[in-house]
Amino acid sequence: MGLDLMLMGLPGAGKGTQAERIVDEYKIPHISTGDIFRAAIKNGTEMGKEAKKYIDKGELVPDEVTNGIVKERLAEDDVNDGYMLDGFPRNMVQAKALDQFGAELGKPLNCVINIDVDPQSLMERLTGRFVCRDCGATYHKVFNPTKVAGTCDRCGGHNFFQRDDDKPETVKNRLDVNMKMNTPLLDFYKQKGILYNVDGNQEIDAVFAAIKQVLATIK
Ligand code: ADP
Ligand code: AMP
Repeated sequence: MGLDLMLMGLPGAGKGTQAERIVDEYKIPHISTGDIFRAAIKNGTEMGKEAKKYIDKGELVPDEVTNGIVKERLAEDDVNDGYMLDGFPRNMVQAKALDQFGAELGKPLNCVINIDVDPQSLMERLTGRFVCRDCGATYHKVFNPTKVAGTCDRCGGHNFFQRDDDKPETVKNRLDVNMKMNTPLLDFYKQKGILYNVDGNQEIDAVFAAIKQVLATIK
């Protein structure tokens, strides 16, 4: 059994930011449902067109679609030695589905890291976020700018974009939708004994150090 990990936290908590560091350090595949949907939208697939209707409003894409995507992804061989889910599951229907297909595939979750951040900071984090178009690295105008203006630290690319759903109008609804679903999920994983809380109100490197401490107890 590898490190079968899930990153939890409200939008803007720092999942994507920490995911980049975890992937580099532990060499496990990063499975972000948000990234999968954005790639499908960019490629103009049917699934992408369907998902876009929900994403643009800050709502969740229907569970049947999302569960199917993750189930297929976890069946691939590159996740045999571990994986890191980011942004999935987002509600109890998804959590129960993952419980079932994770067990069937012999890859059940063994660690849930909840990045806990004061809700007041999230709006500020999301509206200042920008992303490298070439490698997906995440930055922030104020809290985490690139070292050289206009150049990605990770891949050297020069193309950045702001996510459509990071507009203040959409952000508010996304936060509302996700907050309602968060508490039952936290209870579910706490009861299973695999929930680890990390204080996400610290600087990015300090959050990563706290995550590494947790993972050292799992591996
Ligand atoms: P999520 O994937 O959970 O939605 P991101 O990793 O994209 O969140 O982070 C949201 C924004 O907040 C990004 O602009 C990122 O650069 C910034 N950010 C991430 N972690 C921190 C932190 N610990 N302190 C301040 N800003 C952060
Ligand atoms: P994220 O990149 O995780 O912030 O996700 C962006 C958007 O994609 C969300 O606001 C949802 O519309 C959709 N999405 C991502 N993950 C899921 C999921 N597990 N269930 C339903 N919708 C999702």
